[in-house]
Amino acid sequence: MTAEVEGRVALVTGGSRGLGRAMALRLAGSGHRVAVNYAQRRDAAEEVVAKIVSDGGEAIAVGGDVSDPDDVAAIFAEIEDRLGPVAILVNNAGITRDHLILRMPVSDFDMVIATNLRSAFLCTKAALRGMLRLRWGRVISIASVAGISGNAGQANYAASKAGLIGLTKSVAKEVGSRGITANVVAPGYVATDLTDVLTDQVKTAVLGSIMLGRFGEADEVAAVVQFLASDAAGYVTGQVIAVDGGIAL
Ligand code: NDP
Repeated sequence: MTAEVEGRVALVTGGSRGLGRAMALRLAGSGHRVAVNYAQRRDAAEEVVAKIVSDGGEAIAVGGDVSDPDDVAAIFAEIEDRLGPVAILVNNAGITRDHLILRMPVSDFDMVIATNLRSAFLCTKAALRGMLRLRWGRVISIASVAGISGNAGQANYAASKAGLIGLTKSVAKEVGSRGITANVVAPGYVATDLTDVLTDQVKTAVLGSIMLGRFGEADEVAAVVQFLASDAAGYVTGQVIAVDGGIAL
């Protein structure tokens, strides 16, 4: 463990699978103590924790719906009790409910906004108290290229991800003077359960617009999160960093 990160607690929302899992493993690998949040898949979160512990790290699984204020309060209370105050918050939990606008149920619009955006507001609000006491903090939110460019069939998802960018820039302005940075990572297409539902036709079309000619790896997104969480990124705030193989160009 480096002296730099000794004792720092990182919360990865939706850390049980996909990109969040890779982020939890990376942060633990660089010496952070990691809270792996999940909504339903306790088994998956426990697997991530077991891997971290078997690799010599420290982690706990913490269940809870991050779009729910009571659950968020309980998640932070449990982490503070078991590990200490959260110094690094990764707002990663996210879902899709894709439809063209004309066919999109209002409930699917609301659910995506709540899970992807309200969650980040709730978790950031809860985390800032501890970060202000530490006079150090990192808020990293996982948006998407869809939040930058928009995407047909994803009005709810793109709006939630664009909202994360506005939220992040506001956080950066509010608490920058207190040693807290806030940044967005905007991934392109990475093979996870989230993108598994896309048809082969859509995948082929997407591939054609990726400059690097391949989908991304979860660890390639996690590497950027690890950097933003570090002291080395201490002068980077309010930024949107695309990790997308050049798809947004
Ligand atoms: P996955 O579907 O693989 O994993 C989603 C994770 O979020 C799971 O850990 C899930 O927990 C958790 N989760 C879902 N809803 C909630 C909730 N209400 N409260 C707490 N946790 C919740 O997604 P990805 O890893 O692909 O995506 C991670 C993030 O990256 C998302 O924000 C996504 O929008 C973004 N992203 C992904 C891209 C990709 O290509 N994969 C591209 C661009 C952005 P559980 O296991 O319990 O269900």
